[in-house]
Amino acid sequence: MSNQPPHPTLLIPGPIEFDDAVLQSMSHYAESHVAPGFVKTFGETLTMVRKLFQSTNPAAQPLVVSGSGTLGWDFVASNLLEKGEDALVLHTGYFANSFASALATYGANATQLKAPIGDRPSFEEIEQALKEKKYKAITITHVDTSTGVLSDIKKVTEVVRRVSPETLVIVDGVCSVGCEEIAFDEWDIDVVLTASQKAIGCPPGLAILIFSPRAIETFKARKSPPSSYYASLANWVPIMQNYENFKPSYFATPSTQLIHALHTTLTQITARPISERFAAHRQASDRVKAAVAELGLTQLAAKPENQAHAMTAIWLPDGLAPPDVLPGLLKRDVIFAAGLHKEVATKYIRFGHMGVSITDPARGDVDKAITALKEAITEAKKAKGL
Ligand SMILES: *Cc1c(COP(=O)(O)O)cnc(C)c1O
Repeated sequence: MSNQPPHPTLLIPGPIEFDDAVLQSMSHYAESHVAPGFVKTFGETLTMVRKLFQSTNPAAQPLVVSGSGTLGWDFVASNLLEKGEDALVLHTGYFANSFASALATYGANATQLKAPIGDRPSFEEIEQALKEKKYKAITITHVDTSTGVLSDIKKVTEVVRRVSPETLVIVDGVCSVGCEEIAFDEWDIDVVLTASQKAIGCPPGLAILIFSPRAIETFKARKSPPSSYYASLANWVPIMQNYENFKPSYFATPSTQLIHALHTTLTQITARPISERFAAHRQASDRVKAAVAELGLTQLAAKPENQAHAMTAIWLPDGLAPPDVLPGLLKRDVIFAAGLHKEVATKYIRFGHMGVSITDPARGDVDKAITALKEAITEAKKAKGL
């Protein structure tokens, strides 16, 4: 059970509920970011980030930098692409639009391959697009938090390696790392970017990335300098390497307290086989999806193979909008998120089921949320005479 003051259970697709130990590790006393104690904590954290991505290749490069998940897009756009170079952005919702905008901000040409809402581009369409044009990079949102659509990173990467082997495979794993399987080395991915506050269960404020040797070589072969100062790999890679070798180093002050929190959560995550963690999220997801169906509701991601395991995007019954339902949930001590996909935002809600809410079943978060959802929908329908 939690020692935190009573509060409604936060079940949005990030930030999520915190484990007590993670939260408490942030009340660490002041220390220098170059003192041995902190250097050790940061170095161990980077080594655990490798484990989180199931990477054992010493030439892969993890990074942990202050900022939110969005900073990961700037890292990719400013280090791996140069002005006028082409990127193919697979679109499964809101976050592909944003990634494409970030790429365009730094001068890359981002072409979006779109799928209908709730679906994802087919492997055939991806193959066709890669055959039509040479792309320096392809970006995939592993779980699009606006739609709850899961992409098949392993299969997309296989297609890329077969059709256009040099294209860098970039994964936006902000809502997937820590709850969906990712095997960075084995699947031959080039970059995964994520953030601290979703399935990793740490407070917001850290961008977490890993670069393959191919991505690092691509960076080194740039003709122009990186187009960002703060997000330059040239500035950060030596710092990360020094920390991992327990050597003090400075480019920009790290978020020392957040690094302690990340260290704690990664210690918990890596203490058990990570496959158990994925299985727990799949089981909870099955339970949520079954309950949604039992209520007569449907999901944005209609096909089971497209459905994320750490969140569910639920169409509301006709005539109901998020403001009709979310207050009823809050009254029952549960917080869900409203819709995010621009075209349909007023028609659906999002239920995040990840992290400690899943790995500590004694909390009862999922059952509480399912009951609250049932009651809040019934109450809202009645109020509207539906
Ligand atoms: C949340 C999210 C982001 C943005 O992360 P921030 O930490 O809010 O900057 C990017 N991509 C996906 C898939 C997300 O879910």
